[in-house]
Amino acid sequence: MTRFWENKTLTEMTLREWESLCDGCGQCCLHKLVNEETADVFYTHVACRLLDTDTARCQRYDTRSEEVSDCLDVRNMTASELAWMPRSCAYRRLSEGKALPQWHPLLSGDPQSVLSAGVSVANRTISEDDADLDNLEADIIEWVAT
Ligand code: SF4
Repeated sequence: MTRFWENKTLTEMTLREWESLCDGCGQCCLHKLVNEETADVFYTHVACRLLDTDTARCQRYDTRSEEVSDCLDVRNMTASELAWMPRSCAYRRLSEGKALPQWHPLLSGDPQSVLSAGVSVANRTISEDDADLDNLEADIIEWVAT
């Protein structure tokens, strides 16, 4: 397989290439808290109501932007917004000039390697419908950083 991500910028990629970079971890679909003074980002285990908590996949990917007003389109994210993404996320890594992690499905050839690496949020979250959104500090969790 051609390592297109090593020879193209994110903006040069085809839609198919772009989509294949997403490892499906689901971490971007979690509620986060940002320290406004330091810009540090804290992830919680509270997921968007559209996330299938068993598979870590969006249940309505094609219409998510219309249904969830603050769902960000990664393709249109600014550099500072990309910094909210997990350090494992291919879009963030490539935008920072880093390589893909060895467990990434494009290198491993196995979508399950995301689970084996401990990066997927499958079966590790609760839906925002079952959470107290006014007390998200209690739901902060440290996810695997690679
Ligand atoms: S954090 Fe990045 S790799 Fe993970 S699901 Fe979101 S866009 Fe895909």
